[in-house]
Amino acid sequence: MYHSFDAIVVGAGGAGLRAALELGRSGSVAVLTKLYPTRSHTGTAQGGIGAALGNVEEDLWEWHMFDTVKGGDYLTDQDAAEILAREAVDTVYELEHWGLPFDRTSDGKIAQRPFGGHTHHFGKGAVRRSCYAADRTGHMILQTLYQQCLRHSVQFFDEYHVVDLLIQDGVACGVVAYQILTGEFHTFRAKAVLLATGGMGRLFRITSNAHALTGDGPAMALRRGIPLEDMEFFQFHPTGIRKMGILITEAVRGEGGILLNDRGERFMERYSPTLLDLAPRDIVSRAIYLEVRNGLGIGGKDYVHLDATHLGRDVVESKLPDIADFCRTYLGIDPATEPMPVQPTAHYAMGGIPTDTDGRVIVDEKNTALPGLYAAGECACVSVHGANRLGTNSLVDLVVFGRRAGRDMARYVRENDFVALPPEPECEACDEAERLLKGTGQERVADIRQELQDLMMDDVGVFRVEEQIAGALSKIGELKSRYQKVALDDRGQKFNTELLEAIELGYLLDLAEVTAASALARQESRGAHSREDYPERDDDHWLKHTLAYQTGEGVELKYKPVSITRFEPKPRTY
Ligand SMILES: Cc1cc2nc3c(=O)[nH]c(=O)nc-3n(C[C@H](O)[C@H](O)[C@H](O)COP(=O)(O)OP(=O)(O)OC[C@H]3O[C@@H](n4cnc5c(N)ncnc54)[C@H](O)[C@@H]3O)c2cc1C
Repeated sequence: MYHSFDAIVVGAGGAGLRAALELGRSGSVAVLTKLYPTRSHTGTAQGGIGAALGNVEEDLWEWHMFDTVKGGDYLTDQDAAEILAREAVDTVYELEHWGLPFDRTSDGKIAQRPFGGHTHHFGKGAVRRSCYAADRTGHMILQTLYQQCLRHSVQFFDEYHVVDLLIQDGVACGVVAYQILTGEFHTFRAKAVLLATGGMGRLFRITSNAHALTGDGPAMALRRGIPLEDMEFFQFHPTGIRKMGILITEAVRGEGGILLNDRGERFMERYSPTLLDLAPRDIVSRAIYLEVRNGLGIGGKDYVHLDATHLGRDVVESKLPDIADFCRTYLGIDPATEPMPVQPTAHYAMGGIPTDTDGRVIVDEKNTALPGLYAAGECACVSVHGANRLGTNSLVDLVVFGRRAGRDMARYVRENDFVALPPEPECEACDEAERLLKGTGQERVADIRQELQDLMMDDVGVFRVEEQIAGALSKIGELKSRYQKVALDDRGQKFNTELLEAIELGYLLDLAEVTAASALARQESRGAHSREDYPERDDDHWLKHTLAYQTGEGVELKYKPVSITRFEPKPRTY
């Protein structure tokens, strides 16, 4: 089946919806999403959205910019961080005016609370910058944006799984999607395409990310010759529910919760004397690993306690209602009276599809844009989060850069005509589906996925060393060969989720390979990338972004400079 729109948005999370809203006001736009829109992962964001509104104490966007750069361990592109911090303020008010029910101060302003790494006066102490709606901020953002999209006649194709990106003569011209209900392929022609497919946490065994977060957009781009930027930087959030990975928001610590080891010590005093439990996430995650390694995990096991019992029941039930529910449901624990068992959980991809500050996808170290192709949200790398993202900065990224991408796409579709589609646009995607459906090998999708997730968690996780990463890289090669021999039980057309999981596993394998190759090459420790064999940050050699290309002979790496405008790199102490 064939469809034609001025613009296509792939993904109905915060980034896709915010961009679609700009496009819906000016032309024909379709949003394609493999999930029902309001089930997108943005809806699970608990903690808040950071903006220097200064509602409860003095705050400046310059401080927010500085924190973003320092939090990113100086790999952040500072032109992008300036845009993020400046435009955050306006985009939060925009959400408020569309009806987002933020919590309020006693005088009726948007309430704000502290969050990891957010400071006043360039690092002097924690500042209250996170705007929130209880611990359901992302849910409220998603609902608000979805309502606005419906109001502006954005057309939705729900449960359409995009499986290929169409590029003809170096210009993006559409996508191919698989309709989950019927098993039919559809070609969507467009002048401009935005990839907004979210994260890829399913690369790891323990993750806060939903099952659907398999990095489809980045993997499709990679297969079309587009490089992926800074894939070695993957954030582990310090407080996932033990074994399950389900997130316990940083807002628990923002409200005053503390981390304790087996001896009942507040161990962050040793690792971050100024910001304590609200140090950036990479620092807190490593601290937990080190406590566990030193035998100070609870009962000598692989977790520590997050204690909120001193906050009182009122604070727990009113400011953290969903967290309280999770703990009761999944752990049988009441966080108002008992500490929560937590361990680091794979949370956020700082890397992704390289873009400029208008969301245009760039394909080389000279920042050459690929006409008609855009990316925004977690799947993109602007790069505003550098080597480590601060809490609350992803939701800002979605609305700030989603809006900018949408606006530039609206301009682009006004100024440009459709280009020709490639002949038989669906054939590659159809052939791959056919191969998987007819496979007669002995390999199972679930087995390969499990082995991949274990490998990434254990060897390309919080701490890394050369031999382990190199070993992982060669094992990923073996898993890729085994993937060619996968067989499915369900060979039907309708709602064949097994086929979709097989396609997603193919994406994860490609992304694991570029992640491991990028991590192996970077011989330094910076932000979330912690090499035990190279424990120091090395600005002389490594103050640069990685660009990883997929080639017939494996991964090829190139590098591009970091944009430094206001803040010269300094040692990162907290
Ligand atoms: C549990 C949790 C809590 C978080 N809390 C916070 C927080 O408090 N503050 C903060 O700033 N950040 C937070 N984050 C991070 C932040 O929520 C995410 O980075 C962000 O929501 C990603 O938004 P997105 O629009 O890029 O993608 P998502 O919201 O993940 O949406 C992705 C969309 O892409 C679609 N899609 C994917 N692949 C395909 C395909 N092949 N075909 C068609 N559609 C496809 C999906 O259907 C979905 O609609 C949290 C993340 C998690 C996991």
